Amino acid sequence: MVVIGSGPGGYTAAIRASQLGMNTVVLEKAEIGGTCVNYGCVPTKALLESAHFFASIGKNRLGVEIPHKNKIPDSSTIAAIWDRSRKAALKSSMGITSLFKKYSVELIRDAGVFVDSHHISLTAAGEILEFDYAIIASGSLPLEKPPYESDDQIIWNYRSALLKSEIPASLGIIGGGIIGMEMADLFSSLGSKVTVYEYAPSILPFLEDFQAKGLKSHFQKEGVKIHENVRVENILKEESSAILRYRDAQDNLNNEKYDRILNATGVRPNAEALGMDKLEVATVNGFIPVDDEYRVLPHRNIFAIGDVIGGRRLAHKASREGHIAAEFATGANPATISEHEIPSVVYTRLAAAGVGRTEKELMAEKTCYKMVSFPVNALAMATAIGQNQGEMRIYYHPEKETILGAHILSPLAGEIITYFSVFMKNEIHLKEIAESIFPHPTLSEGVYEVVNAALGVSCNI
Ligand SMILES: Cc1cc2nc3c(=O)[nH]c(=O)nc-3n(C[C@H](O)[C@H](O)[C@H](O)COP(=O)(O)OP(=O)(O)OC[C@H]3O[C@@H](n4cnc5c(N)ncnc54)[C@H](O)[C@@H]3O)c2cc1C
Repeated sequence: MVVIGSGPGGYTAAIRASQLGMNTVVLEKAEIGGTCVNYGCVPTKALLESAHFFASIGKNRLGVEIPHKNKIPDSSTIAAIWDRSRKAALKSSMGITSLFKKYSVELIRDAGVFVDSHHISLTAAGEILEFDYAIIASGSLPLEKPPYESDDQIIWNYRSALLKSEIPASLGIIGGGIIGMEMADLFSSLGSKVTVYEYAPSILPFLEDFQAKGLKSHFQKEGVKIHENVRVENILKEESSAILRYRDAQDNLNNEKYDRILNATGVRPNAEALGMDKLEVATVNGFIPVDDEYRVLPHRNIFAIGDVIGGRRLAHKASREGHIAAEFATGANPATISEHEIPSVVYTRLAAAGVGRTEKELMAEKTCYKMVSFPVNALAMATAIGQNQGEMRIYYHPEKETILGAHILSPLAGEIITYFSVFMKNEIHLKEIAESIFPHPTLSEGVYEVVNAALGVSCNI
């Protein structure tokens, strides 16, 4: 088995294949751990944790007020915050290297290019590897479309932001998706004046309206400006700043000057340099097409997973697909996943998470459903930790009494949504959840309470 890429998709696929008895090699042309470990999930969450802590200094929070002089961290603090995030990335990356050793996965630091459906050439070594099976997990790269190409100085992409250890006085962010809003949270918490430009009628348009509106007002209270329904036309670079030109909803052209501009319009699949033409496989909008078993047809021995096949660009989707593809390759018949089983999380200070169908999707599908919600401020733990904003909402089937979708706006929403992922995958009934005991006081009691509310037996609302 040859696996291309060591991101969450590739490293999981390789370890699973090796566990199942395959002689497995991983090819990695850059850092071990891919985007997630080096330029995505891990460093962003490390930076956000430091930034949230910094933002609480100088404010009276929970009866404690630690005075501080500057609203912007000094240069040594900025360096220490970024250094901590790089160390977090390195620790995770080294963890994967030791897992490869533990599971006898051979790691080759080189770029792989297909020669045919059983041979791959190693670019630097100039050698050809023969394989029975291959899993492509080559991931994605920042979307760099004119006029937003990064120059790493004034116009940034997410990689520049994660590597530069610089807090611009003013930052314009193009794109109000997850990456854009997490970056808005990061830089505004560290003192930048942040403005977000979103093309859609709302930031985070894939969320439930109550979540997107809740986050919008939270951000606005924190001083972040948000322009929705706008189109960025171009960027005029100056010596140490840039003018962002955008059309507003009334079609007026506006100019705003920023020290830095961050392009957070998304990612693009990384399939260009794989030699897909040698496999006679055409990409679709840059993505590698796969069948239900992640096979790159007509080649039943070649699989593709993760960001490079499209769908939700999330690490846990990539790693689950890695598991499944490795199992199909070894002749097993694993349970597959559907798009709606993949939870998504926005890790801002007030966080949002969801799994399953949104109300819009249920209405479009004409599925029969009921909705119930529970306010976070009715939870004892929310009061104890002084974070009362938010709501937990579920859509459920009125006769089957199973959950169709769960959507949360609350602190630690990403931890809480996991319960609903498990309930939904296993079609656990509301009554069974209500018969379980949740520890008190916890934020996860909201899960118990919202289900009790659906059954009409909540004693706390
Ligand atoms: C700023 C940011 C924050 C994010 N935060 C989260 C988050 O909190 N939670 C979450 O779930 N997701 C998050 N993501 C998304 C997540 O990082 C990706 O979905 C995930 O990394 C995709 O995994 P993958 O294995 O498909 O590819 P990748 O992680 O992109 O890994 C692909 C690897 O393949 C290597 N490669 C490519 N071509 C070749 C070749 N020809 N030969 C050898 N090696 C090759 C690349 O060098 C790379 O290391 C974030 C993304 C970004 C940008």
